[in-house]
Amino acid sequence: MYDAIIIGARCAGSPTAMLLAQKGYSVLVLDRDSFPSDTVSTHIIKYPGVNQLEKWGLLDDVVATDCPPLRQVRSHNGDFLLSGTAPPKDGISMIAPRRTELDRILVKAAVEAGAEVREEFVVRNLLTEGERVVGIEGQPKGGESVTERARLVISADGKNPLVARTVDTPTYGEHAPTAFYYYSYWPDLSNMGLEFHWRHHQFVLSIPTNDGLTCLVAGRPMEYYREFSSDVKRNYHETIAIAPELADSIGKLHPVEPYRGMAVPHYFRRPYGPGWALVGDSGLCMDPLKGHGISDAFCDAELLAAAIDAGFSDRQPLEDALAEYERDRNARKAGYYDRNREASLMEGWDEPTILQLRAGLRDDRAEADRWAGTIAFSVDYDEFYSSRFVKDAMASAV
Ligand SMILES: Cc1cc2nc3c(=O)[nH]c(=O)nc-3n(C[C@H](O)[C@H](O)[C@H](O)COP(=O)(O)OP(=O)(O)OC[C@H]3O[C@@H](n4cnc5c(N)ncnc54)[C@H](O)[C@@H]3O)c2cc1C
Repeated sequence: MYDAIIIGARCAGSPTAMLLAQKGYSVLVLDRDSFPSDTVSTHIIKYPGVNQLEKWGLLDDVVATDCPPLRQVRSHNGDFLLSGTAPPKDGISMIAPRRTELDRILVKAAVEAGAEVREEFVVRNLLTEGERVVGIEGQPKGGESVTERARLVISADGKNPLVARTVDTPTYGEHAPTAFYYYSYWPDLSNMGLEFHWRHHQFVLSIPTNDGLTCLVAGRPMEYYREFSSDVKRNYHETIAIAPELADSIGKLHPVEPYRGMAVPHYFRRPYGPGWALVGDSGLCMDPLKGHGISDAFCDAELLAAAIDAGFSDRQPLEDALAEYERDRNARKAGYYDRNREASLMEGWDEPTILQLRAGLRDDRAEADRWAGTIAFSVDYDEFYSSRFVKDAMASAV
């Protein structure tokens, strides 16, 4: 009998395991994948996530994988390339480590903290007694089916969680995917840096990462999905063409990995019930346009581990602590959840007010750097767009 069984060992599962194991709880983590391994996701980690890595003592290991710091931010809304340097805070910058590297480090940290991790183990069913989840049934690769029991089963298994498929997990704020993204990895683009291109219904992003590779992302709203996916290579290149310099650079190159793509739904799920809890994408999911999912998973892992500790150590009834976890998780997303979905419709990026703001920033080095810092440190640019200095910048641009 474990204190906690965690299904899924990536951004949400391993940190939750690490934090619980550090507090002395017995934790079993199960993942059908083995590590290191990739998953369908690009991998910008913004300041809140980088900060968590630093706090957990893992940032040096991630940086040592040779993923470059992303300080220079360049963005193009169909007018000109606006450039700013995100000031590192306490020496910390945005980074974009490959998930093969990041997730390997997270799993290792969970093991070092004392969690038992079983890779290549598929969880097939939950064990229940009445309404309460009391364990799991699953199978190691090539092995016999086994059952394991725990005080709490934590679902960190991504967007289609077993817990939500098995017990009643109320969902709210639910919307179908609004956009999709295809990406691949290119050599010899290291001079490009972190670059955003925003056009009506088109989005291009270049992300420098490990091994001198650059991840190039092409995004479009869902209404284009059927046509785009019928010829991914052609449509990917057509979208990248909104960034002529990038398009020229990859013209004669071949991507070093296959094109991969995904569209992500929007939802909140109530993240707890009798004998179970949700963390990461299993409990809250949003379009990845602004690169927040990894940071959110880290923050939620910390909130959930603290709530479980409060409940298990009798400082607070577990249900109350988990209800607080839900409130804190949702409070961090208040407002932003809807704004992110609106942004992922990819409309209004060339509105006069936005172009005016950009023109104001271009002429002011310090403010352009603050703008770049906002992209680095915050996932909610709307806070920034409504700030005093933006209004000043726009007034001076008129
Ligand atoms: C195209 C795309 C681009 C993105 N770009 C970014 C970005 O730049 N920055 C950012 O911060 N976020 C980004 N995200 C979001 C980010 O990928 C997710 O928010 C993050 O991976 C969530 O982590 P997680 O641990 O909750 O789930 P996951 O990373 O999905 O991990 C779930 C794990 O559960 C395991 N699992 C599932 N079912 C079972 C089972 N039955 N038994 C055993 N194991 C199981 C899986 O093998 C997997 O390892 C992007 C997402 C997409 C789709």
